[in-house]
Amino acid sequence: MDYTKRGLVIKSISGEYTVSTGDALYICKPRGVFRYNESTVKVGDHVLFDSQELIIKEVEKRKNDLKRPVIANIDKAFLVFSYAEPDLNLNLLDRMISIFDYYDIEIRIIFSKSDLVDTTKYDDIIKYYEKIGYICYEISKDYIDERIIKDISGSICVLAGQSGVGKTTLVNNLDKELDLKTNLISYALGRGKHTTRHIELFKVGDGYLADSPGFGNIDFDDVDEQTFSHTFVEFFKESENCKFKGHCLHLNEPGCAVKKKVETNEYLKSRYDNYLLFLNEIKEKKMRKY
Ligand code: ZN
Repeated sequence: MDYTKRGLVIKSISGEYTVSTGDALYICKPRGVFRYNESTVKVGDHVLFDSQELIIKEVEKRKNDLKRPVIANIDKAFLVFSYAEPDLNLNLLDRMISIFDYYDIEIRIIFSKSDLVDTTKYDDIIKYYEKIGYICYEISKDYIDERIIKDISGSICVLAGQSGVGKTTLVNNLDKELDLKTNLISYALGRGKHTTRHIELFKVGDGYLADSPGFGNIDFDDVDEQTFSHTFVEFFKESENCKFKGHCLHLNEPGCAVKKKVETNEYLKSRYDNYLLFLNEIKEKKMRKY
């Protein structure tokens, strides 16, 4: 009799993995050969396991694989940014967009605390991010955009953003809307007390959602300059009109189509400024390595 089942790893605590098949949970251990390398099984992994022996036999190929926090196969990242308290941080937003794009993760932007400001002041910024291809949502203390719930459905999602931007409120409102009865709230509320990088996927409708403080320190670890330049999507699209297409980093190269559009204000100034800052950061990091 073959007891092999396929499931999703939703939690990992000291070498034990909680595997969900959708209708049941199994606490499994990895097969012996895996044990030497703890990172062999990750939260987010699709695995084949023996439902009698409770042994993970095989980890399926990952679509992406983050090191910090340790999680695999993320479909969508919901980047939560507040209009105020703390102020809208476009530098961190562009950083997160760039890094998640590098890992081939779909990006959604949630602007929070819309009750604290006159949001019309931010119309141009939001329109810009929408124009370059990112779906944007707005939330406040008592309001959650229903489309967010539909968007989580069927996907493995993460919430990312600085502390204090209202992620807990969002989780709270999700819970109210869906009557989740999970420990998502207590987890989000109690999170400040935990110093570990514990990460867990919670079922939200037909999808999964993880929140991790680890995304606050997300970094351009292994990204090279050329690949990085592709993660600013609007510049990348335009780069085929650059004289040195495929090689232009849009700094001071002659015939740069991106720079031309920066000069005519067709791009958000903060986008190009942040692009330069990050590019510099990546260059310095590379120099320190050698
Ligand atoms: Zn260029």
